[in-house]
Amino acid sequence: MNTPKPVFVTSAIPYVNAEPHLGHALELVQSDALARYQRLLGRDVHFTSGTDDNSLKNVRAAARARTTPTELVARYGAEFRRLAETLHVAHDDFIHTASDGRHAPAVHALWKRCADNGDVYKKVYRGLYCVGCESFLRESELVAGGCATHTEPLELLEEENWFFRLSRYAEPLLAAIEGERLRILPQERKNEVCQFIRRGLEDFSISRSRARANGWGVSVPGDETQIVYVWFDALANYVSVLGFPNGEKFDRYWQAPGERWHVIGKDILRFHAVYWPAVLLSAGLALPTSLRVHGLITSQRKKLGKSLGNAVDPFRLVARYGVDPVRYYLLAHLHTTKDSDFREDLLRTAYGSELAGKLGNLLQRVCALCDRYEVPIITTDLDATLLETAERTRAAVAQAIDDFALHDALRAIFELIAAANRHVDSTAPWQLAQRANDTSSGPAQRKAAQVALQRALSSDVHALTVSAELLAPFLPGTARAIRARLEPKPHLGVPLFPPLSPG
Ligand SMILES: [Zn+2]
Repeated sequence: MNTPKPVFVTSAIPYVNAEPHLGHALELVQSDALARYQRLLGRDVHFTSGTDDNSLKNVRAAARARTTPTELVARYGAEFRRLAETLHVAHDDFIHTASDGRHAPAVHALWKRCADNGDVYKKVYRGLYCVGCESFLRESELVAGGCATHTEPLELLEEENWFFRLSRYAEPLLAAIEGERLRILPQERKNEVCQFIRRGLEDFSISRSRARANGWGVSVPGDETQIVYVWFDALANYVSVLGFPNGEKFDRYWQAPGERWHVIGKDILRFHAVYWPAVLLSAGLALPTSLRVHGLITSQRKKLGKSLGNAVDPFRLVARYGVDPVRYYLLAHLHTTKDSDFREDLLRTAYGSELAGKLGNLLQRVCALCDRYEVPIITTDLDATLLETAERTRAAVAQAIDDFALHDALRAIFELIAAANRHVDSTAPWQLAQRANDTSSGPAQRKAAQVALQRALSSDVHALTVSAELLAPFLPGTARAIRARLEPKPHLGVPLFPPLSPG
């Protein structure tokens, strides 16, 4: 007897020094689709996200905005939560790391476990720090004397900090990753991590002086002069949200046999694939079972920044096109794990030709035919080819979820929808109905036409039902609307995707 194991799904917690942009929307809907799919399978799912409040970037943004970090993270934190709600992302929990009472005790407990294991020590460190990365950079990582990703000048810092003995963990990390106890998807990201580890791991600083942190963040246990390093703090959210070090939830979703998936962007891979599992190994805790690493959204091949971010404000897109069309575009038209350029014209095209033109049209046609000919829908003796296509689609979606290739899942579902549209054309129910009512032919022929009509329409309804079921994790509102249209019997209604106004 196989009881389904629990699945814990997280997205990363973004630092909240500005309005959320489309990149945040992408990660939210990807992780939501994964969590919803697991729920559909009947698994015990816990899905969380939150905000990284304790970042130094937030302190600086607050200073620029002439406000306090507390006020700044509360204001933007609420915007990130509103984005999740706007996108119909169904979290089970959401943690704001500065204000949530569960967080600091968990950071302390994690720290103490690493310290008890002999992995935390103090030393003077001098190095170049990138505030964009919230990380010291090695000489070998510098590009023209600066950070490869960020434009802000690096800061030369020298202070006495607490360090984590990362150098101890190269072997066990490689063993976990290569043996797929910690699975990293896609393969190229796994290779990247393994190469990084093989080059050797250096201990890293896990605290900073209270002065440099402007007093913002969680104090180091037993050392009030130091604040816990933002990454050590932020990564701990994955267990603080479960109530670590205590609690039924922590045992059930982290320590017990089950799956723990982190959905992250490729820009924070190293923190999740190296630092975080090393800390967990040191603390004697279970590792995540997989990292699902998505690509980044670009605009004209440039990284989405604040200026470009405004142009692709996710709230504006949802107001303009609706929730599911935006989810559809993000999940179907952006490659799940490679960088993709955002193009609003392609969103419009996808809306018109795929959502309205293929899915909406299939639903309208089938419902109109069922309304007109009033045949009772049957569930046996359906068209074998269409049935088989539906089952193949179900398997393709399962595979795509496992591969973290969500665009492949949606492509497969839309192939089923296309097959159903072709089935309507080829069976021509209007001709079958004509023959069924043709008094010039014999009763046997009329009966045969009637049976064929019932079979054709029932097969179409079946394809729509399976499409709705498979679409549910990706386009939950649309799936619900399709089911409502098919029950108790198929009936006409307003189009799911009405024509867009121009502009
Ligand atoms: Zn940087």
